[in-house]
Amino acid sequence: MTFSLRPAYDDPRTAELVDRLRDYLDGELADYEREHGLTDSGRLTRADLEPVWHRSIELGFYGIHLPKEHGGQDLTFSQLAALKKELGASGRVLSHSVLGDMGGPLRAGDILKHATEHQLDTYLLPLIRGERACCFSLTETDAGSDVRSMRTVAVPDGDGYRLTGHKVFSSAGPFADFAIVVARMAGTGEAEGDKPSFSAFLVDLDSPGCRVEDDATPMSGEHIESDIVLDDCYVPAANLMGAEGDGLRIALGRVTTNRLLHCPTVLGLTRRALDLTLQRARTRKVAGGRPLISLQAIQHKLADMATDLYAARSMTYAALKALDEGRDVRTEAFMCKLFVAESCFRILDEAVQIHGKEGLTQGNEVEFMFRKVRMFRVLTGTSEIQRNGIAKLLASGT
Ligand SMILES: Cc1cc2nc3c(=O)[nH]c(=O)nc-3n(C[C@H](O)[C@H](O)[C@H](O)COP(=O)(O)OP(=O)(O)OC[C@H]3O[C@@H](n4cnc5c(N)ncnc54)[C@H](O)[C@@H]3O)c2cc1C
Repeated sequence: MTFSLRPAYDDPRTAELVDRLRDYLDGELADYEREHGLTDSGRLTRADLEPVWHRSIELGFYGIHLPKEHGGQDLTFSQLAALKKELGASGRVLSHSVLGDMGGPLRAGDILKHATEHQLDTYLLPLIRGERACCFSLTETDAGSDVRSMRTVAVPDGDGYRLTGHKVFSSAGPFADFAIVVARMAGTGEAEGDKPSFSAFLVDLDSPGCRVEDDATPMSGEHIESDIVLDDCYVPAANLMGAEGDGLRIALGRVTTNRLLHCPTVLGLTRRALDLTLQRARTRKVAGGRPLISLQAIQHKLADMATDLYAARSMTYAALKALDEGRDVRTEAFMCKLFVAESCFRILDEAVQIHGKEGLTQGNEVEFMFRKVRMFRVLTGTSEIQRNGIAKLLASGT
């Protein structure tokens, strides 16, 4: 793929979808956000999101990656990534609600394939239809990178389980009807050397004993996460996903794919930051009335930013293509998540530098994007955890 700030796609299907998506994001969705006064740091409500889910379903974007029998268009990973990149590059507050990242089918991820008929009918098909929404609750205050140290516990009780624990930072929590919660089975992992066993449950957030609480606000300033507090919350056995003990396999299953699919949104956002920085460098005048871009120091920064972006994008697309071909891309997925997070952060840092005080001013788009991209070095697996993964696979001779 060649370098461009507005990439064109050779694959006609991708090109057509990207064109339609750009029209929607820049037209109808931009108007909707303006009319409703929606901003990145404002408090979004379910009522703000629902019309976007429904319109995105009408346009065929919501859940577009799903197989045809579930109303999707069976996209390849590369095609889905091209769309996600456009969302990132759009600057739209509600871009996360178009393909189903915010509580929709993309948040549920691969969970569909573990669902029973009851779970499909009650939870996942309504999710695809935009009638229900979910969050994914794994992390706890003292269990982040090391998920196995989680304290949320599930105690078998009659034909079900009682869950007690406190999950933090569940994205889409404020808009969700149910959570996919992973808990340790009571009686496992308690004695020294005893291996813990984890299970995954579909938990209705209005169940007795379950509370959704406002979470800490992350540095992006967005209000799209919640705590999920479980206090002896009864969950019927029909809501257990897979078998007891399958929890982490289900939660972390397809982690390689998800790791890769988080990259295009950040690449799109970084592309927008580079574009805005170029515009700023062309129009900002410095001593002698010359534009900033006439200075070699600035030109070199811009050249490095574009080169970093091209490298990050190229490796991500190469890995996605290999994934589409059915190849094992575990090492490449770790590498892409690491390189995209680190290089996009470097690019955003220079974007702020070139914007000067404008880039440091709250309300400036580049300032927001800098904070957003900074978070990506921690979210969905920190850079250190990616390095651990690469090193482990190298050491194993993979
Ligand atoms: C905005 C936001 C949204 C989120 N959304 C969700 C969500 O929807 N669902 C969910 O379950 N979670 C979510 N999370 C949690 C996120 O996945 C965790 O923050 C992440 O996994 C890291 O865990 P931690 O923050 O506890 O850091 P820690 O695990 O405490 O790590 C702290 C530091 O130590 C390093 N470190 C830890 N272990 C190792 C190691 N073995 N080797 C080398 N270095 C190590 C880390 O790299 C990091 O630099 C979200 C978090 C945020 C901020």
